[in-house]
Amino acid sequence: MTTSLLLQAPCVEMERLENLWFQLSKTACNLKCKNCFLSCTNKYNVKSFLQMDKIKSSLLDSKDTLKAVYLTGGEPLIHPDFNNILRLCLKFADTTVLTNGTMLNDKKTRFLKQIQQDYSYELIFRVSLDSYDENKNDAIRGYGNFRKVLSGIQNLLKYDFNPIISVVNFEGEEEELIKSKFAEVFKIIDFEVEDINFKIIPPLKLGGCKNIYGDYSDTDFVSTEMMKNKEFDCKNSRIVADDGVYACASLVNDFRGKVGSSMKDFSKRVFLESNACYTCATCKTRMFNNNW
Ligand code: SF4
Ligand code: SF4
Repeated sequence: MTTSLLLQAPCVEMERLENLWFQLSKTACNLKCKNCFLSCTNKYNVKSFLQMDKIKSSLLDSKDTLKAVYLTGGEPLIHPDFNNILRLCLKFADTTVLTNGTMLNDKKTRFLKQIQQDYSYELIFRVSLDSYDENKNDAIRGYGNFRKVLSGIQNLLKYDFNPIISVVNFEGEEEELIKSKFAEVFKIIDFEVEDINFKIIPPLKLGGCKNIYGDYSDTDFVSTEMMKNKEFDCKNSRIVADDGVYACASLVNDFRGKVGSSMKDFSKRVFLESNACYTCATCKTRMFNNNW
């Protein structure tokens, strides 16, 4: 009798849970970008939001090793209980809000600063833009949003936040070119973004992004060779979504990324079976967590 060897995807074993993510608003967003890898929609209801008790219990279950909290969506700022969630997270760790930046008007930003001032942990905003070219950005994100985001960044600066700029490199441009083009744009609002606050990542060819930029090829999987000297976010991070715990933000709702039902009891091991893991492996920085 012969035994055939099954090919198995490489796996990542978690060492310590340091970064806890929450998908606050599933696929609900105030925008409807054509290239959204989650195919988010601006039609949502009360069921679209993560419940506070789940957030609280997850924080308590993770607090011993926790270093950073991340709030994402969709657009996390549309969560009806966002302010209280933020207050809760800031009791535990530095908290990064991943936002499209369009809701950061003066009043809202001033209010968020007031919240931050009650805590010693830092509140950080990571703001996404698709292109330094206003027309290209707005063709994907909706007319007028480029200027809204610049205004949001301006408000963050006004209230002494130090925003991270997040750019998906859809066109495969040189990073130095992207940075210099954005630097020209940000001159208008007198903003000099530091290198460490510039997060440029490759596209996850899922959802709307796949429709525009094409699918992965049959060979776009992580090889053992690609694992060498690479730090994957799933080594020290997990994301809590409405229906359980996942390895990372790109695999929410993908059964291959599901690692458990709660932060009390989840698998430390993740098999890199998804094409999204391939994107992760080609990313020069960490794909999801902040660059520091
Ligand atoms: S890409 Fe971001 S801003 Fe655009 S629809 Fe998706 S979650 Fe919303
Ligand atoms: S997409 Fe990246 S972070 Fe997520 S499981 Fe795959 S390798 Fe890990």
